[in-house]
Amino acid sequence: MNEHLLKILIVGDGNVGKSSFVHRYVNGQFNQAYKMTMGVDYSVKLLLWSDKDKVTLQIWDIAGQERFISMNRIYYKGALGCVVMFDVTNSASFLSCRHWKQDLDNKATLPDGNSIPCILLANKCDLAQRVVSGDSIDRFSKANGFVSWMEVSVKENKNVGEAMRVLVQEILTVQ
Ligand code: GDP
Repeated sequence: MNEHLLKILIVGDGNVGKSSFVHRYVNGQFNQAYKMTMGVDYSVKLLLWSDKDKVTLQIWDIAGQERFISMNRIYYKGALGCVVMFDVTNSASFLSCRHWKQDLDNKATLPDGNSIPCILLANKCDLAQRVVSGDSIDRFSKANGFVSWMEVSVKENKNVGEAMRVLVQEILTVQ
């Protein structure tokens, strides 16, 4: 059995759904009122990935730290994968994704020097008042070196597990 310990970062503007995403993925719940009280901390999720591979995910959320915009290098240290999240009803949060991705690439690389696999998640796709089109997300994702992008709804539990599976698969492939 191969055991993998993977540190994954969740970044993006405040209020896009990062804490809810981690809570949904790790605990299987969505709670409208849920908010992490801690600052930077991580959650752990164990995956029996395959007959040969056991994966421990260490998921780092930056709850409450977004105002620092550029996070301290310590958060990036040892990271092997990243989720950049925005809210499809908030165009500013989409525009910020360029910054979040650049910040990641400036502060962390894989041991071989390549950039860290990163997936772009368009959250709150359950809401009708969407302002960011699929076309612009697709162009942005390709132009900025994301592994892929996906529409998610943490509220409706749409694509939450799938997004993490795609990211973990990519991390294990490039390792
Ligand atoms: P964070 O600041 O990025 O960690 O965002 P939170 O996880 O605290 O979520 C911000 C707000 O968005 C909360 O009121 C959540 O209930 C809400 N929210 C999170 N995900 C979704 C979603 O998929 N759909 C909808 N409609 N609301 C969501």
